[in-house]
Amino acid sequence: MKHLTEYLWINTPERYQMVDITNEVQELVKKSGVKEGLCLVNPMHITASVFINDHESGLLQDWLVWLEKLAPHAPISQYKHNLTGENNADAHLKRTIMGRETTVAVTGGKLDLGTWERIFYGEFDGQRRKRILVKIIGE
Ligand code: ZN
Repeated sequence: MKHLTEYLWINTPERYQMVDITNEVQELVKKSGVKEGLCLVNPMHITASVFINDHESGLLQDWLVWLEKLAPHAPISQYKHNLTGENNADAHLKRTIMGRETTVAVTGGKLDLGTWERIFYGEFDGQRRKRILVKIIGE
């Protein structure tokens, strides 16, 4: 069995940001030499998500607005978590809504995604260096 484990580093300029990482992940699939297998992608942080959806600018903005309605950042005093001195309780909640990780089939040496599917890193407490795990296994 072939396998590859690598970490992508990311530092978003914005506190809240969606980043399309499909090309970077596909490059790692190529590097792994795996033709048939699975590719797991997850952030190593509890305030970020990896998920699959459409790369459409309106939709990317819609998510951030929708998440802000569900788990507003302010007032930060509304969250018990922020009593620890942190101010990112909303980011923990937003990450839970958007999920932790994604697994994509590798077929013929490529990510086997639907026509409009792209892999996104969702950052909810950014402006600092964070890691994304990519693990690829197969033949
Ligand atoms: Zn926190």
